[in-house]
Amino acid sequence: MYYNNREIEAFLAAGPSPYRMNYPLSKASTFRIGGNAAFAVSPQTEEELASLLDYCRREKLYHAVIGNGSNVLFDDEGFDGMIILTSALNRIAAEGELLMAGCGVPLTKLAAEAEKNGLGGLEFAYGIPGTLGGAVYMNAGAYGGEMCCVIRQVGWYDPESGVQGVFENRDCAFGYRDSVFQHRDLIVLWASLSLQRRERSLIRADMNDYMSRRREKQPLEFPSAGSTFKRFPGYFTGKLIEEAGLKGFTVGGAQVSEKHAGFVINRGNATASDVKRLIEAVKDRIYRQNGIRIECEVRFIPSVGGSAESEPKASSDRAAESLQ
Ligand SMILES: Cc1cc2nc3c(=O)[nH]c(=O)nc-3n(C[C@H](O)[C@H](O)[C@H](O)COP(=O)(O)OP(=O)(O)OC[C@H]3O[C@@H](n4cnc5c(N)ncnc54)[C@H](O)[C@@H]3O)c2cc1C
Repeated sequence: MYYNNREIEAFLAAGPSPYRMNYPLSKASTFRIGGNAAFAVSPQTEEELASLLDYCRREKLYHAVIGNGSNVLFDDEGFDGMIILTSALNRIAAEGELLMAGCGVPLTKLAAEAEKNGLGGLEFAYGIPGTLGGAVYMNAGAYGGEMCCVIRQVGWYDPESGVQGVFENRDCAFGYRDSVFQHRDLIVLWASLSLQRRERSLIRADMNDYMSRRREKQPLEFPSAGSTFKRFPGYFTGKLIEEAGLKGFTVGGAQVSEKHAGFVINRGNATASDVKRLIEAVKDRIYRQNGIRIECEVRFIPSVGGSAESEPKASSDRAAESLQ
């Protein structure tokens, strides 16, 4: 797609949202991988976010809304359009047993806020490095908890039609690492969470326990996007990968973590292509060994056109060969 970058820059320069051109996407992803985005913009209000999305629709400008980038793999070619970063949409308000927050609020901060207000239910989310928007989109979960168990309402914006609305929990079609927002390309603006009164010291004890389990089990010293694959019903994917002898398996700078086989890590100089080839090789081996097709949890953001993809588009031949 050919864009007139001067016109886009003029639009951004005239608007209130801070922006950057040729923004290195490695800075916007916990994988620390990705080429440059033509534009990266940080709206300061929901109205600014909506107006940026309206502009993208009018100009047919390719765009992606990104929270903390802790579940995405950007392309080595970068992104030929506008990356919209939500980190400034970070208001939080508590009212009785309800917590309301903007989509850019970090989950760990939100869990700490719940604890401060003596509200239990969000302990599981402490240590998940995403934002509220990304967590709703992914229906993030850990240690027996999931966003769908605490979400009451979600405010959304439809970039296709410019329509704004509010979903009740039941409208969100939450499933395992799944929600309606993935299928209708709706943008999460804010969410309210329904929590319960709980002794603060008990909440804190659970949060600390979860955090220390993460530090013990997960390769937090390396850049990654967390668990690369979804659980396959009846199996622990990390265990399957370990049993296939793939711990430490490396393609370029990407590696199946020695510490936790469910994590693909960036050893320092991995490219998106390394990660994709590694993923395909692992999937291929698990299929040949166990007869099941494991799926990716990480979302792939292509450099041009289309929305986030749930499976990588890359040839796996070379990596698959090296596994035989
Ligand atoms: C070390 C580590 C540990 C992790 N542990 C867990 C865990 O225990 N459980 C778990 O579930 N996940 C875990 N994750 C994965 C990740 O943190 C979650 O999926 C998180 O919810 C993603 O949030 P994010 O803001 O980073 O989303 P991003 O990575 O920025 O985006 C993910 C997807 O959501 C979309 N998106 C983001 N914000 C919005 C919005 N406002 N509206 C609409 N779409 C949006 C993006 O376009 C993208 O497709 C872990 C990741 C890491 C790196």
